[in-house]
Amino acid sequence: MIQFNKPYLTGKEAHYIFQAVYDNNHISGNGVFTKKSQIFFEKRYGFNKTLLTTSCTDALEMSAMLINIEVGDEVIMPSFTFVSTANAFIRQGAKIIFADSEKNTPNIDADKIEELITPKTKAIVPVHYAGMACDMDKIMHLARKYNLFVIEDAAQAIDSFYKGKPLGSIGHLGTFSFHETKNIQSGEGGLLIINDKQFEKRAEIIWEKGTNRAEFFRGEVDKYGWVDVGSSFLPADMIAAFLYAQLENLDKIQNKRKFIWNKYFEKLEILEKAGFISLPKIPEYASNNAHMFYLLCKSIKERTELINFLKDKNVYSVFHYLPLHKSEFYKKLNTNNNIEECNRYSNTLLRLPMFYELTDENILQICNAVIEFYNA
Ligand SMILES: *Cc1c(COP(=O)(O)O)cnc(C)c1O
Repeated sequence: MIQFNKPYLTGKEAHYIFQAVYDNNHISGNGVFTKKSQIFFEKRYGFNKTLLTTSCTDALEMSAMLINIEVGDEVIMPSFTFVSTANAFIRQGAKIIFADSEKNTPNIDADKIEELITPKTKAIVPVHYAGMACDMDKIMHLARKYNLFVIEDAAQAIDSFYKGKPLGSIGHLGTFSFHETKNIQSGEGGLLIINDKQFEKRAEIIWEKGTNRAEFFRGEVDKYGWVDVGSSFLPADMIAAFLYAQLENLDKIQNKRKFIWNKYFEKLEILEKAGFISLPKIPEYASNNAHMFYLLCKSIKERTELINFLKDKNVYSVFHYLPLHKSEFYKKLNTNNNIEECNRYSNTLLRLPMFYELTDENILQICNAVIEFYNA
């Protein structure tokens, strides 16, 4: 059976964890590897300031706290996303307003946002689905026009760009995930990217349980105490050690994933040309970080048949997402109609196996199985 995902290990993870624990003697958060990882991101992508978190969910929760989301505030985001995008703001009391996806990509349709803005709107949360950039110029323009915050859910978007700008660096805040299903992983893990300098100091305090301990460790104050709300959002330095081993191999991992992605595209193009399926359409302003390879079937029935056919051929494929506006939880709070494109992606999108160790032979087997299904 070709599995859907297999977390890649570089071989250095255990070595660095050992170093964190025995050599550095710093197992808790904000240690040597935490700083090394944060500096890696700040150097490589020019991010203003970054903080490692225990997950992307946590980085999103920190964002909701930083922009002071209060009961009744409205936050606009796509329905076609993971629950954490919404939950992070819901738990602060926000009302979530879902926008539809674009015709050509599952990303939020920037042209359908303005009609959803009200005096209560506080933020827009674009999600770069499959690591493909949203139309950020349009979104940032709306944010300036209506005085809104933009938080990029870049969970899937490490090493991806919008018009040459790294994703995560464009909104006021941005978030990455290092969950084991993402390109670069530490089991669980995340990053908060602080682009707007007004949030720098408070982000560090919220991160460190509402204390100014980070300032204390830098010698900027002579004692630390309780100065604000906060929680324990920082990972143990062992996690950062694991992550750092992955970051050192970022280019190698990305090159391999892009190679796999392109192979899929070349082999399946014939089915698109014959009108059977649609392949990802990457807007000219967006790069491809090969986070996932998806195709679009014609209907939910056809997709279910294809999933079962592939399973018979020892290939594990999965669909994505059940739209949030149709979830049990959200239906109790609100209803959104007219998000047709989102429904279409939810019914027809199929993800093929995507991981570092996928071989040429595997890819051939998978593509041949998909082609066989449509030939039959
Ligand atoms: C993976 C993912 C998350 C959650 O990331 P965690 O690190 O598991 O908390 C949030 N949003 C999107 C779009 C994701 O793909």
